[in-house]
Order: sequence, then structure tokens, then C-alpha cells
Amino acid sequence: MNILFTPWRFSYLTAPKGDQPSGCIFCIAATTDDVRQTLTLFRTPDALVMLNRYPYTNGHLMVAPVAHEARLFDSADRSLRALIRLAAEAQRILSDVYRPDGFNVGMNFGQIAGAGVADHYHLHIVPRWSGDVNFMTVTADTRIVPEELDATFDKLAPHFARIRGEALGE
Ligand SMILES: [Zn+2]
Repeated sequence: MNILFTPWRFSYLTAPKGDQPSGCIFCIAATTDDVRQTLTLFRTPDALVMLNRYPYTNGHLMVAPVAHEARLFDSADRSLRALIRLAAEAQRILSDVYRPDGFNVGMNFGQIAGAGVADHYHLHIVPRWSGDVNFMTVTADTRIVPEELDATFDKLAPHFARIRGEALGE
């Protein structure tokens, strides 16, 4: 596997704003039919999973409730259950597809804590491999992303399609 060290944060900060729809990315992902455009891999009535457009590593996913809520304690049990259930499926699929050595799974609440979207909470699932940079370094300016997002989407989407119909927080 080729390892690229790329200053993604810089391209993120300087990316033109015009080609993305404005508004909450999770609410857009919950309602937009074009799932590839929003990088949305799977949706249930209560939760969704999508690729992070600015990933720290290959397969960096975000799981969010469908409800636009800022904090865990704003959420109904139904949303909480759906979120962690979908996170479990996502971790299983990432394990099968990418064979990572570990994961960072976590949430940031409020911009001071590093939340890019502070008013719609979400869970980051970041696969990790031996020899990649540690998580604190990753939160600075360096990321390891050898694979294009479209390729990641194509690789993961069929696996999520297979869990459609199974009981996921219903
Ligand atoms: Zn939202």
C-alpha cells in the first residue's frame, strides 16, 4: 500500500465553498437522494453512516443520528440505540474490508473540543494500522490517505447494502 503524507487540512481550509450544499452535512445526508454526492453509505430511520470527506485514514466514517441534535442527552433512546448499533456494523465492515490493526472511535462536542459540525453530533470511526501516525499527530496537519473517496465508497457501500433489511434499531 502506498502511503501519502498530504496536508489535507490546508486544502480543507482553502477549498471553494461553492460546490457543496450549504447547511448541516448530516441533515443533508439524511434527506438527499444522491447518496454518492453526500458520501452516505447507509441510512436507517434513526441513524446514518457516511464517509468523512476529509479523512484521517482510509475508511474514516462518521455515524450520526438522523435527528439534528447537539448532545447525547438531547437524544431519545431510540436514536442512541440506532447510532451505536450502526457504529457496530460499521466497525465490523471496516474490519472485514480493511483489516486494520485498531480503531479510534470518538466524539467531539463543541468547537472548543474540535467538533467540525458542533450542532449535530456524530461519532468518528477511524481505522488504524501499525506504523501509521498516532491520533494526536493525526489531529494536526498530516493524514495518511492513499485511497480516493470514490474508491472507498465503492468498496464499502455493497457491504452496507447487505445489512439493509436487518433489524438496525427498529
Ligand atoms: Zn443536522
